[in-house]
Amino acid sequence: MKLIVLLGAPGSGKGTVAARLVKRFKVCHVSSGDLLRAAVKQADTPASRTAMAAMREGALVADEVVGALVIERLERCAPAAVILLDGYPRNEHQAANLAVEVARAGAKVAAAVWLEVPEAILIRRLAGRRICGKCAAGYHIENMKPKVDGICDSCGSALIQREDDLPGRIANRLVVYKQQTAALIDWYESRGLLVRIDGSDDADAVVERVAQTVIA
Ligand code: AMP
Repeated sequence: MKLIVLLGAPGSGKGTVAARLVKRFKVCHVSSGDLLRAAVKQADTPASRTAMAAMREGALVADEVVGALVIERLERCAPAAVILLDGYPRNEHQAANLAVEVARAGAKVAAAVWLEVPEAILIRRLAGRRICGKCAAGYHIENMKPKVDGICDSCGSALIQREDDLPGRIANRLVVYKQQTAALIDWYESRGLLVRIDGSDDADAVVERVAQTVIA
């Protein structure tokens, strides 16, 4: 089993790259954001309401809550040759927790791929992003349009704009990324695991780069 962490700011293309690699290779895509969105939809508890409020604002959800969801999901990837972990870890505490948990399963992080994208491009991508309200497939109003306007190609459900993709919230998420997550670039580099990839091109080119560098 090869565990690859996808690093990068919101809008850097982690989810898009992972979704396309799933179609080409035998990979298991684990997205902490998707896991959280599904979890808060399912249960209306004080914990889920706290998590939902943090997500709406673009703040981080508590480490223990996300960590438990991610580790449980990773265990269910077991037969997959490659696991792409998208959105986790988001701070050094989570990175250390991940290292401990995967070591317990006799594995380790094989590489941390950093999708480098300038801020102006991140903002354009996030503001134009739409997702399927049912299956979470991703689209963009300019360069990744569905075949039928507003409808998901995969499952036919309506596309929505994530609340945290609204303008004020995007700015907050980028601040949170700089303050809490960007330090992971040095964290993985100092362990010899960092792979830098230019993520500013169109999705096909970036997917090709990631595939050639860490999968094929
Ligand atoms: P994403 O889909 O990766 O953009 O994540 C959406 C939101 O879910 C983030 O803005 C956070 O509120 C929350 N989230 C996702 N992953 C994590 C994580 N590893 N730690 C804390 N919060 C997270």
